[in-house]
Amino acid sequence: MHNRAMNSLTEKSAPSPAPVSRNDRPALVVANLRKKYASVTALDDVSFTVGRGEIVGLLGPNGAGKTTTINMILGVLEPTGGSVAIDDVDIAKDRARALKRTNFAAVYASLPGNLTVSENLKFFGLLYGIESLRARVDELLEEFDLARLRNTKCGLLSSGEQTRAALAKALLNKPTLLLLDEPTASLDPSAAQTIRERIKQLASRDGCGILWTSHNMLEVQSVCDRVLFLSRGKVLLEGDPRLLPQAHGASSLEELFIRVAREPLAGGDWMAVAADSAP
Ligand code: ATP
Repeated sequence: MHNRAMNSLTEKSAPSPAPVSRNDRPALVVANLRKKYASVTALDDVSFTVGRGEIVGLLGPNGAGKTTTINMILGVLEPTGGSVAIDDVDIAKDRARALKRTNFAAVYASLPGNLTVSENLKFFGLLYGIESLRARVDELLEEFDLARLRNTKCGLLSSGEQTRAALAKALLNKPTLLLLDEPTASLDPSAAQTIRERIKQLASRDGCGILWTSHNMLEVQSVCDRVLFLSRGKVLLEGDPRLLPQAHGASSLEELFIRVAREPLAGGDWMAVAADSAP
């Protein structure tokens, strides 16, 4: 990514809206969420919030229940119990309104490859009912250094370019809640750093609440205000990723992650230590 791109991603490209207070109503409230698939309990009484302007990491080993959680927040999977409210709107009661200010980007949910970057943004913009769509698309193409690729089919983009296109699509509706599944997984270190800064800015400048899943603990530590460790469908640990390792006698978040992942039955004890170490 060249300098113009770096600048366009890190500098303000439009007049800033008024900063959103972190005390405003939460972007997301998940309460006592449960999901059973036949005999498998994928999620068991999970509750958490994501505040406006907050970046929360959803961590956990394979099969912990992260994708199940995300799919219920996105309304594509019906919970067995509990509730999801986005910007104070219960998704079970008013799905369309709850999802209007939500968006999602993931490596595995790539944009249709036979459409160009510009066509994809226009297509999703029409789906979301974006006003002044042409101007919004141009703004995002510029911001994510995609203007020169606007007529390139998405299937021909490099993985880094696809990530930028997916993020541009995810910001079309200026979401209150953004769900990001490994947003930097396919990026080189420089591009990943640029995207991290852009996402941090989204939270701090625009007050977007972000739920971020990642297996890269260094990245989580540098980006997330708070993390939740899921294991076997339960939240085992929650807190500041910079303080949690020391509070649990681990040398790093990665070491702590490995211990939590390998000792899922110690859930009660983990939470007790977390509560004792709360500032
Ligand atoms: P990963 O990091 O590997 O993507 P994850 O944390 O996203 O894992 P989920 O995909 O949410 O985990 O899966 C949680 C549990 O639910 C797993 O035991 C999985 O096998 C099970 N599961 C997920 N989807 C289904 C389904 N459609 N039918 C039955 N079991 C399922």
